[in-house]
Amino acid sequence: MKNPSEANRPGWFGPFGGCFVPETLIEPLRALETAYDAARRDPKFHAELRHELATFVGRPTPLTFAGRLSAALGLRVWLKREDLTHTGAHKINNTVGQVLLARRMGKRRVIAETGAGQHGVATAAAAARAGLPCVVYMGTEDMARQAPNVARMRMMGATVAAVDAGSRTLKDATSEALRAWSADSRETFYVLGSALGPHPYPTMVRDFQTVIGVEARAQILKEEKRLPREIIACVGGGSNAMGIFTAFLKDKAVALTGVEAGGTGPGPGRHAARFAGGYPGVLHGTYTYLLQDKDGQVLPTHSISAGLDYPAVGPEHAELRRMGRARYVQASDKDALAAAHELCRLEGILPALESAHAIAYLIKEKKRFKKNGLIMVNLSGRGDKDLGTLCP
Ligand SMILES: *Cc1c(COP(=O)(O)O)cnc(C)c1O
Repeated sequence: MKNPSEANRPGWFGPFGGCFVPETLIEPLRALETAYDAARRDPKFHAELRHELATFVGRPTPLTFAGRLSAALGLRVWLKREDLTHTGAHKINNTVGQVLLARRMGKRRVIAETGAGQHGVATAAAAARAGLPCVVYMGTEDMARQAPNVARMRMMGATVAAVDAGSRTLKDATSEALRAWSADSRETFYVLGSALGPHPYPTMVRDFQTVIGVEARAQILKEEKRLPREIIACVGGGSNAMGIFTAFLKDKAVALTGVEAGGTGPGPGRHAARFAGGYPGVLHGTYTYLLQDKDGQVLPTHSISAGLDYPAVGPEHAELRRMGRARYVQASDKDALAAAHELCRLEGILPALESAHAIAYLIKEKKRFKKNGLIMVNLSGRGDKDLGTLCP
């Protein structure tokens, strides 16, 4: 089924999206699109995916009522617990799906890019289970910042390929992974980590994450007999947000709010708020909101959470914003840190710093919401990986 944000051209969300890649990638992307189109219509593929999600990933994840946080804010807050999935974040929903597709296509190895290492770990886990060799491209700056995830990937048999170019972070790792794919696309499957990149990735990744919202919609109806007034999710590339938003797009009374990384302030290089500080351009194969200078050179970004620290946003979010179907706001580093501590103290849940941005917005803007209003927050991941930042 199509989202209202999808134009009739596959891969386009209004004016956003598309497939802006060098010629060498056109053929592999077409092959991927064809294979994915066949898989998504094949009940056997869905049965296999459902089985993996249930027995390996740990789905369905619970919807938890946050009683003490609710009382403190004068709201009714429910948390969708993606932090409880295997490997600790929603990323695994997508990597399990893409690795099944890689096997179906007869590929002999998988590659991936990673920033914080969450997508790298989720890809390494899915690849190990499928018996496929795995190479994960990672900036050397991120390897130093996220050493435990480097160790996890290696334990699962993945090779971590150090990228020592540019800012040595996710943007550079993604460029390197795309280059490696175009050098050997016949044998290699590229497992992309967010609702980003050239067509068909934004559609495919969103589809694999849609399970979050499908579960959450049924769970909230069972618990509250009504839909929430608002759903809040953090937005890096935008996959956990698309994952929870999609099942509610047609419910016009449900407000959808994406929270970007406000970092340390509005200046260039101090945040990753693409909608506040960016304008449309092309990065990594897709036309979308991008932090860039007046010549179109990509600007440096900053966020306390590595998972939100990327200069472009998924193209479907750009269209949801243009249509007025979703709103995009920001939370600062400082507020996200405080929110993580608050959720630990009140609910006994340690959120990832990425997810803490969604909680931070809720706390800061509590007056915006109707008293006792029903709110759902997507808790995209757990914060064990962030302990070094949370308790220095
Ligand atoms: C990677 C990550 C994000 C950001 O990615 P999206 O594609 O925007 O979801 C958010 N939360 C966690 C826990 C992550 O690991």
